[in-house]
Amino acid sequence: MPPTPHPSGNDRYTHCPKCGAALGLEVRGERERLVCPACRFVFFQNPNVGVAAIVVEDGAVLLTRRGGSFRPGLWDLPGGFVEYDEDLRDALIREIREETGVDVELDRVLEVRSNFFPERHSVGVWFLARCVGGTLAAGDDAVGARFFPLDALPPDDEIAFETDRAVLAMLRTEGLDAS
Ligand SMILES: [Zn+2]
Repeated sequence: MPPTPHPSGNDRYTHCPKCGAALGLEVRGERERLVCPACRFVFFQNPNVGVAAIVVEDGAVLLTRRGGSFRPGLWDLPGGFVEYDEDLRDALIREIREETGVDVELDRVLEVRSNFFPERHSVGVWFLARCVGGTLAAGDDAVGARFFPLDALPPDDEIAFETDRAVLAMLRTEGLDAS
């Protein structure tokens, strides 16, 4: 599935978050941006940062089954979004603990990609990781969490995100010894 072209996002916000006036559009830095005519605040829209872990144990990789309202029932690599004032590695360790019950130690970054969802543009960072404690149990917005051998992953149409499919394909090609 080709990535959906992402709109500028300029239609997503209507009012200045600082003073409440209606935002207008002005060209700044060769792009049309939301600018407040009252206080001159420029509403820069940037991608969110997402983090995901490739938790490896005995040649198998940990996937979570999504609950919630966005692509429920499909599998993904566990992770989530970095909070504004949070270190991205801390964010990932927190997310894995919340979603899978497992404590992880992070290894190197395996991949970095842009996600162009219609709803939200994000940048994803995939870390290799290993379990160092905890007990496997789905939690937070995950309704399942289990390890899959690389040769027995769910089919692509049961993986929620194109970027996770690409990362899992990389793993199948390179093997888990890459860590
Ligand atoms: Zn304003």
